[in-house]
Amino acid sequence: MSQQGYVATPPYSQSQPGIGLSPPHYGHYGDPSHTGSPPGMMKPAGPLGAAAPGGMLPQGHPPHGPHQFGQNGAHAQGPPLQRFPGPPPVNSAAPSYAPYSPSTQSSYPSPVSTSSVAQLGTQLSAMHVDSYGSGMAPPGQGPPGPPSAAAAFQGPSRSPQPTILQPGSQVLPPPPTALNGPGASPLPPSTHRQDGLPGPAPPNAQYQPPPLPGQTLGPGYPLQQANYGPQMAGAQLSYPGGFPGGPAQMAGPPQPQKKLDPDSIPSPIQVIENDRATRGGQVYTTNTRGQIPPLVTTDCTIQDQGNASPRYIRCTTYCFPCTSDMAKQAQIPLAAIIKPFATIPSNETPLYLVNHGETGPVRCNRCKAYMCPFMQFIEGGRRYQCGFCSCVNDVPPFYFQHLDHIGRRLDHYEKPELSLGSYEYVATLDYCRKNKPPNPPAFIFMIDVSYSNIKNGLVKLICEELKTVLEKLPKEGQEETSSLRVGFITYNKVLHFFNVKSTLARPQMMVVTDVSEVFVPLLDGFLVSYQESQSVIHNLLDQIPEMFADSNENETVFAPVIQAGMEALKAADCPGKLFIFHSSLPTAEAPGKLKNRDDKKLINTDKEKILFQPQTNVYDPLAKDCVAHGCCVTLFLFPSQYVDVASLGLVPQLTGGTLYKYNNFQVHLDSQQFLNDLRNDIEKKIGFDAIMRVRTSTGFRATDFFGGIYMNNTTDVEMAAIDCDKAVTVEFKHDDKLSEDSGALIQCAVLYTTVSGQRRLRIHNLGLNCSSQLADLYKSCETDALINFFAKSAFKAVLHQPLKVIREILVNQTAHMLACYRKNCASPSAASQLILPDSMKVLPVYMNCLLKNCVLLSRPEISTDERAYQRQLVMTMGVADSQLFFYPQLRPIHTLDVKSTTLPAAIRCSESRLSEEGIFLLANGLNMFLWLGVSSPPELIQGIFNVPSFAHVNTDITLLPELGNPYSQTLRMIMGIIQQKRPYSMKLTIVKQREQPEMVFRQFLVEDKGLYGGSSYVDFLCCVHKEICQLLN
Ligand SMILES: [Zn+2]
Repeated sequence: MSQQGYVATPPYSQSQPGIGLSPPHYGHYGDPSHTGSPPGMMKPAGPLGAAAPGGMLPQGHPPHGPHQFGQNGAHAQGPPLQRFPGPPPVNSAAPSYAPYSPSTQSSYPSPVSTSSVAQLGTQLSAMHVDSYGSGMAPPGQGPPGPPSAAAAFQGPSRSPQPTILQPGSQVLPPPPTALNGPGASPLPPSTHRQDGLPGPAPPNAQYQPPPLPGQTLGPGYPLQQANYGPQMAGAQLSYPGGFPGGPAQMAGPPQPQKKLDPDSIPSPIQVIENDRATRGGQVYTTNTRGQIPPLVTTDCTIQDQGNASPRYIRCTTYCFPCTSDMAKQAQIPLAAIIKPFATIPSNETPLYLVNHGETGPVRCNRCKAYMCPFMQFIEGGRRYQCGFCSCVNDVPPFYFQHLDHIGRRLDHYEKPELSLGSYEYVATLDYCRKNKPPNPPAFIFMIDVSYSNIKNGLVKLICEELKTVLEKLPKEGQEETSSLRVGFITYNKVLHFFNVKSTLARPQMMVVTDVSEVFVPLLDGFLVSYQESQSVIHNLLDQIPEMFADSNENETVFAPVIQAGMEALKAADCPGKLFIFHSSLPTAEAPGKLKNRDDKKLINTDKEKILFQPQTNVYDPLAKDCVAHGCCVTLFLFPSQYVDVASLGLVPQLTGGTLYKYNNFQVHLDSQQFLNDLRNDIEKKIGFDAIMRVRTSTGFRATDFFGGIYMNNTTDVEMAAIDCDKAVTVEFKHDDKLSEDSGALIQCAVLYTTVSGQRRLRIHNLGLNCSSQLADLYKSCETDALINFFAKSAFKAVLHQPLKVIREILVNQTAHMLACYRKNCASPSAASQLILPDSMKVLPVYMNCLLKNCVLLSRPEISTDERAYQRQLVMTMGVADSQLFFYPQLRPIHTLDVKSTTLPAAIRCSESRLSEEGIFLLANGLNMFLWLGVSSPPELIQGIFNVPSFAHVNTDITLLPELGNPYSQTLRMIMGIIQQKRPYSMKLTIVKQREQPEMVFRQFLVEDKGLYGGSSYVDFLCCVHKEICQLLN
């Protein structure tokens, strides 16, 4: 294996010259070369900033020399664009969607398996030889498989998990059409499922084979047989019912084929269930450095004993390699996904608030790290050594305490900052803008009252709802009423400000027609306490729909709306959040005016990235202004056609706001989803005017950040606001050696303003291990976190790189990570064996889901706006949300036990797991589908829908009827549980088997081949295996 091949780092994860085809749009993101910022735009240079009191170090730890701050830092040593020995060039006649193109047969090795590495692998190998010839060489035509393997398969299974092999089902000769799940035929006859089942796959196939101990041995088939389906849309569509991309013989009659048993390849459901079985329901204490937490899908109770809860920070690996050479060799991203305001269940301890009075938090003089469990007290307690920079500091007199016999302070357990991973400090005036306490934040509601919104009832709906939801404005612990102030603006091509001062009998409207330079026409009476002005506000909300009932105005502005909200907050000298309810492309003459520039012709070209970039340069500086003034923008979009989400969504994205989108909104169908989102958004835990700094111990540092953030320099992560659902993903790079003794320590500090206007610091500390053994690194990985990182880095890269390149990088890096493991950590075995480290068993299937996501792979039915929308959502997702988004939950409903409150066990997302006698619920965090098999049990149909049969079910409904029977109650309860804790209200779609909308549903069966490209899991595994073999050769 060429070591050279492992040197490369993903070129899109940082701004490297010569890689992007065009300059990155947001060059300041993590790119040290873009540090310029106009004076006055910066957040107050408080203790988080460069001008911290008592120390002038801009970096998280002391400088080691100029190289550390150089443009390329520690990660400049690899060649900027080191390509792995990749697949042959794409055939121009058949453009490949996927990065892996079909290879000629001769290019594959023809291994003979003599390995004893695991019989299981060998058997799988044989199994594959026999079975995986679909659409390619029929038996006897391809290169022969390993004889020993074949023998092993024929003989009695010696596998420790014989259930995995299911030899009986292997030899079924399904027609080729069945081999690819929903591959080609949009509406297959039921025989595809019933007769062509490759595996046993009973309707309720939730029972998966037992876990594989240690390594997972995947199929060790000779690669000649495999078709790494290029998923060419054209080719695929020309074979209705056939295997796409296959050789010519596919056109002939179906030949008896055998297929790799999907149960033999690692199952995400199995991994999730195993973790639940071993760690679910338990107490997880964070007392040990580098320990790997339970998966995000496992429910347990977390007890902070010195490291931040995994609810706040998760890492791609909990053991960092000691050297950058090792890191480059393994190519495993070193990253943390930080969700500083994560919701903590009621049975876990909320964060303690530490108040040191006027002196403020105790901090290292040198690196400015905050007092935490990583500080080592010495000299009888008079001094302490910083765990981050090793500087020895004097203990301030007020903070002195004697040490016990093991050198620990006597008050160790009395002080949260000495014994806990997470806690808060009351910030002193040094940490406030202009050294004065902040005013409480404000919420401004801004409603698009153009013709269509009035006509379809949306404006009335919003106004009605606000009357209720304003009662629930968030408040701090003991507060009786919320300190938040509220304000109201309506707009079409002009802006209407409302004076709702409590002393007025009726609200007053002031119109601003000059939208080129918005000013705020009133200060007094615009932002008010809801409690005090309640009657005037209700009066206003009653009047708004009437006021504009006769308006024919269709044109809207958008940037001036944000500008107006920001100016109002600025004038009131407070941070806040804008809630904008908007429907159309802003075509009125004004700054930020947009035109319809959607262009499907750009898809699959190098210019596709343009579709994700904003079309004017108005929104980026506007976002920067908003962040500088603590103005967060949340946007509720109700588009009926293209509205240019890439442009409209930019300010919400960069200000830590949320983007909600309701296509073709209809009040009678979609109100519930929207109202749930609105309520949830108004009530959720949020911090304003925030600035985050991630400090690290010596030897590594944070180099890149992904999320709803803005960066004016390389270290300060600025957020107009950050709520409980937003995560920032941080990538780390070495700049020196790490030591196994001291480990790798991370401290994340977020300075923010609470909803009541208190300035606070929220601190999260996490200690990771370090090792000079690659095996330790692989053992400590978390695939869900890896996918979160890969998704965000790839989705950031779509702004300036061709999607094809990004997909190639993802595939190559996956192969590299696994090849490095294979070469350095696995016991020797035949090249034909695919060996996956236990912690990355499901990396290929999740990676394939990411590659097939519509952001990275266009599909005809997905609009440009939808792609931009999904891209934006993922950028701020935490690990639990990205896990669900890329690998949806699919649960059988027809088997549910109405007496039990436990959810029916999830099954794998593949059509082969469905049955026409069944009803299945699928959820991915944005959408929920209830799929009804044509032979669904009538009593269930009756129970759920209150209609006599399948044919009577109305698929237009978006809410299930509330019926009193157990089926209805249990199903709605299950849906409620799945919805819980998710940031977006999921839209319910009823899908009948073999009806047109099923095509949409099918795209979520992510283990299957996509209708318009995107490999099946099996095909992708073959592709990755091929790449690994090439690397190892
Ligand atoms: Zn320090």
